[in-house]
Amino acid sequence: MEHAPTTKELSHFPFLKKAQDHIRHSPPLEQLLKEERGQILVNLAVKRINQALSSKKTFVAHFQYRDEDEIASYVLSRIIVSCIRDKQLYDRLTRYEAERAYHFLNTETGSENERGWNENAVIDDDNNSAIASYLAAEFRIDLSKEQMPLTDYVEIVAVLHDPRFKLVNRRVANGLVQIKKGELLELLRERIRVILRRDLPYNVPKGICEQLSPIANLIKKEYQEQMLQQFGAIEESAFPPCMQALVTALTAGTNLTHAGRFSITTFLHTIGMDVSGIAGLYARSPDFDPEKTMYQVEHITGRGGSGTEYTAPACAAMRTTGLCVNRDTLCEKVSHPLSYYKVKKRDMSRKGPKKAEGESGENPPAPPT
Ligand code: SF4
Repeated sequence: MEHAPTTKELSHFPFLKKAQDHIRHSPPLEQLLKEERGQILVNLAVKRINQALSSKKTFVAHFQYRDEDEIASYVLSRIIVSCIRDKQLYDRLTRYEAERAYHFLNTETGSENERGWNENAVIDDDNNSAIASYLAAEFRIDLSKEQMPLTDYVEIVAVLHDPRFKLVNRRVANGLVQIKKGELLELLRERIRVILRRDLPYNVPKGICEQLSPIANLIKKEYQEQMLQQFGAIEESAFPPCMQALVTALTAGTNLTHAGRFSITTFLHTIGMDVSGIAGLYARSPDFDPEKTMYQVEHITGRGGSGTEYTAPACAAMRTTGLCVNRDTLCEKVSHPLSYYKVKKRDMSRKGPKKAEGESGENPPAPPT
């Protein structure tokens, strides 16, 4: 018989379709936001977003608020980031939700000394909990089998870097990939992330975004400050090879493709270079057109009419557009040019500029782990 999740279970996995039944009868959001309960939900949603943006994440089982409010706060947090229109926020929030679900799947019952969050957990003969199997089934993963169809597997692991998941390190027989039980949950976490990300941004009515704008603006401002602190002063020698190649091409007067201009502009914007700084870089190009450049840069960085801030493409997208060039050893460990920059900059400040990778001559040191 199919498991009927409790409201407590749904509140820990609020993205489940069934969870939405518990908020279906809430008043319209426009009205709710004017009520006291609306403020409680906004506070809970902001807490969720702040957790997603925090470098130290904590996942605490919730017994303090009503289960329905926890579910509603999940939806509201997605509405708020949709109003902010920043792709990095969508990524951070969905990664957080997937990590959070993974944590609760692993701590449902807890050890003998610890109390899990689900006192009504139902465990089957294969040691799978009923809610874990239910959730996995909704995401098309069968926890009762230590294997998965090859096509599903390849799709899920495409962006995972862990060598454990590389197909060459797997046993494949009759179109099925062998997977250990614990690994199935890791793959489930990844599939949750991808599917939750696919649904963002929501198409939120303008009036609701206006009601949420004070809180959305605050989150956006704090996030930008956090990013600038995180990346610190701009260090061109820590740029990943792909971005260095784009800067070199610009300087040499090469006419960059749209994808190239987009990638370098979003990258520089995220690490804290202001619009005039970016335009100044374009000025190194012999066919520099100040007006056109400012228009393009402002559009990409969200200062133009659309208000949308774009994010630098990940390595997978850079490969697709042919912009992933001169890969080095550090590239093997990252999936995003921004991660490369962050790791290399940290490495340079630890080791001193002379010893950092790429500056010491013929034998660059191994990248940090
Ligand atoms: S692997 Fe990523 S960081 Fe390295 S060159 Fe390619 S796109 Fe850039």
